[in-house]
Amino acid sequence: MAYEKVEVYSPRSLAEALELLSQKRELIKPVAGGTDIMVMLKDGVLKEKELLNLSFIPELSYIKESENRVLIGAATKYREIRRSPLINAYSPILIEAIRQIGSPQIQNLGTIGGNLGTASPAGDSIPPLYILNSRVKLQKLGSSREVQIDKFFLGPRKTVRESDELITEISIEKMDPGSYYFFEKLGLRSANAISIVSAAAILSLENNTVKYLRLSLGAVAPTVIRAVEAEELAKDKELNEELIDRIAKLAAESTKPITDIRGTAEYRKKATYGIIYEALYKIMKGYGKKVEYGFENTS
Ligand SMILES: Cc1cc2nc3c(=O)[nH]c(=O)nc-3n(C[C@H](O)[C@H](O)[C@H](O)COP(=O)(O)OP(=O)(O)OC[C@H]3O[C@@H](n4cnc5c(N)ncnc54)[C@H](O)[C@@H]3O)c2cc1C
Repeated sequence: MAYEKVEVYSPRSLAEALELLSQKRELIKPVAGGTDIMVMLKDGVLKEKELLNLSFIPELSYIKESENRVLIGAATKYREIRRSPLINAYSPILIEAIRQIGSPQIQNLGTIGGNLGTASPAGDSIPPLYILNSRVKLQKLGSSREVQIDKFFLGPRKTVRESDELITEISIEKMDPGSYYFFEKLGLRSANAISIVSAAAILSLENNTVKYLRLSLGAVAPTVIRAVEAEELAKDKELNEELIDRIAKLAAESTKPITDIRGTAEYRKKATYGIIYEALYKIMKGYGKKVEYGFENTS
């Protein structure tokens, strides 16, 4: 199938991009890595006839530290995030998820801002962003605002972004040293597969007692969700098989999955239980991944 014809604007600064966006608003579509947009173009479903290319704007591509947070420019590519000593040291759960996105080719082009812009409940960077208490910066000509990640998404492919705003930055929390974490994804194959179910967690333990659990689930509801009841149940309890079973059951009960070509709703609920049980069991047995606060590049 032939690609649709579109006009591409490639501003060299953020100010220029915001100016263009303020003039054209819903007539122009931002494009960063283009890994989702190219599929839309191929399928003939892109309604805009103009693209705002963000690839040549250095102000949108960076990773830096700010006290207890790490700030990531929206057009930062997955490859750069995987290689970042800061994120490897302080927020390695994000690396764990990005490692499982697409393929090396997709990671060389795709950006974290693009994953948020697409707003799929199966977007793999999103579950870790939920439990890293992330904030999304939206900027338009003359002003900006920050939105908590769980307030950013309104439903599948719907966000609070206005047509004259760009996502410019994602701010993530640094994880506590010594805390355990996992990102588990179930797909139909090991690369280039959309998640059927995904789960991300950060678990802080003291003498095998849970100080806190943060648990988020992808692809099992209209947006990524936090398994709040499971998190509350876990607090101050001893981590044992009985608790793990109850956490996994509560998490599965909190889902509202759909049936589609990748799996039935019933399968998604069972799979949610299974991946959480297994990941927590590994941590209990001493095989979990732990935040070390080193600066070793693990990508
Ligand atoms: C073969 C293949 C495999 C894939 N595998 C996975 C996977 O395993 N997991 C996964 O989560 N995704 C996967 N994807 C989807 C895609 O790669 C990701 O969603 C990626 O993060 C998109 O980033 P991008 O920069 O390419 O976005 P683009 O395609 O450039 O844009 C995506 C959307 O975000 C908007 N947008 C981009 N940047 C901004 C910005 N700064 N401000 C406002 N809006 C913006 C665009 O307008 C568009 O709506 C896959 C895609 C392909 C083609």
